[in-house]
Amino acid sequence: MNHEPPGRPSEICDLSIAQLHREIKNRQLSSVEIAEAYLRRIRSRDPKIQAFISVRADTLLEEARALDRSLVSGKREAGLLTGIPLAVKDNIVTQGTRTTCGSRILEHYVPPYEATVVARLRADGALILGKTNLDEFAMGSTTENSGFFPTRNPWDLNRVPGGSSGGSAAAVAALEAPGALGSDTGGSIRQPAAFCGVVGLKPTYGRVSRYGLVAFASSLDQIGPLARSARDAAMILQVVSGYDPMDSTSARRPVEDFVGALEGDVRGLRIGLPAEWFSSGLDPRIEAAVRRAAARLEAVGCEVVEVDLPHTEFAIAAYYIIALAEASSNLARYDGMRYGHRSSSIGALEETYRNSRNEGFGDEVKRRIMIGTYVLSAGYYDAYYLKAGKVRTLIKEDYFRAFERADVLMGPTAPSLPFLQGDKIADPLEMYLSDVYTVTANLAGIPGVATTCAYTPEGVPIGLQLLGPHFGEGRLLRVAQVLEQELGLVKPALSLGA
Ligand code: GLN
Repeated sequence: MNHEPPGRPSEICDLSIAQLHREIKNRQLSSVEIAEAYLRRIRSRDPKIQAFISVRADTLLEEARALDRSLVSGKREAGLLTGIPLAVKDNIVTQGTRTTCGSRILEHYVPPYEATVVARLRADGALILGKTNLDEFAMGSTTENSGFFPTRNPWDLNRVPGGSSGGSAAAVAALEAPGALGSDTGGSIRQPAAFCGVVGLKPTYGRVSRYGLVAFASSLDQIGPLARSARDAAMILQVVSGYDPMDSTSARRPVEDFVGALEGDVRGLRIGLPAEWFSSGLDPRIEAAVRRAAARLEAVGCEVVEVDLPHTEFAIAAYYIIALAEASSNLARYDGMRYGHRSSSIGALEETYRNSRNEGFGDEVKRRIMIGTYVLSAGYYDAYYLKAGKVRTLIKEDYFRAFERADVLMGPTAPSLPFLQGDKIADPLEMYLSDVYTVTANLAGIPGVATTCAYTPEGVPIGLQLLGPHFGEGRLLRVAQVLEQELGLVKPALSLGA
């Protein structure tokens, strides 16, 4: 490797996780140097981007010092993520560090326990840099629904970073963190990754433990990595994956070698383009960029085929019934009694519930609780929830058939470029419709990777999405890495204003 010793913070923050790992292993860099560089970077950039809700400044340095001591004394070997400071979406609980879910109702909540993913990161020697902004309880596609402040897109501050993991995506894109965790219920890792020009992976349902992920829709939620490259995403996925007795939905199967899977060949791989995804409503710039990427894969020996996902048009309706039904019951626990905001105007029990919830939840969360309660209510259950479940089965079957003809599916992540701040927030239905390409992977439980395939002349990233059969993450990461190599994109300058 032929680069200067990375002494200055700007240089340290430019390094990939894979490079930082080598520097830590060779003792060229200490955990403290890396942590200090990122803290300085956050101090200088985050006032504009507002990716973080909390930064663990003091504890981070203490932990980094302790880590360096154990590395120097030989008490600890460097694992994949040892000494790497990572950002964590603020709906993943961190013991002793405030976890708000972007909601006023949990503004002061300090969890007494650690999410399994965080425990696994820590066990490997990773450090938790801070907690990132999100749409309240992960409900939204722009991070404007945060109960605290909106996050901005580092490529264009007038645009949204996507959502709901907008803080994680923006932090990684703005080089305020080398990698992050997000959660994806209907696209919340992949869509912000596409909007911010980073790599985001939603694992197979069951691949990563959700113990300590604050539940939105339990049959859809997954935690996954956001990073600057397929390799860095693979390294994070490697550490957080695997069976967890604390999450009965986590899969009892060994964790494959995701980092090793990057080395394989893609020749002969069948790449399927779903016909329904290239119909009206898709920005022609995105269509052109995705088709160019398909042509590059063809040039390196993949076979590009067309596939059908005939039930795509029913996906948004099914998703917004199932997700909101589950959300309405998951959010019943915020009643002002055991944790979270309790109204100061308390009276009878029901009044206390009502006032606490009314003051604590934002408009979008209230809207969703009402819709979710409605679709589950006697008399409407059959017409909505039950029918949505049947549509879900049809969507799953669409994928099973498509994966007989193709090894990997490829298409847009979102139908448009990142929205302008304030543009979509007044029209929830329009915002819901923009999730058309992402929600189906959650309904089917299959893995998906979003990565960048072009930039507009104005320097705004254009994303694409790769989907694979259950537990096919390794192959998706390999294709994403081949695209990185073959497309040879030159990153435009970040828009950090004057
Ligand atoms: N945008 C989708 C929604 O609002 C997805 C959110 C998510 O994946 N958490 O529900």
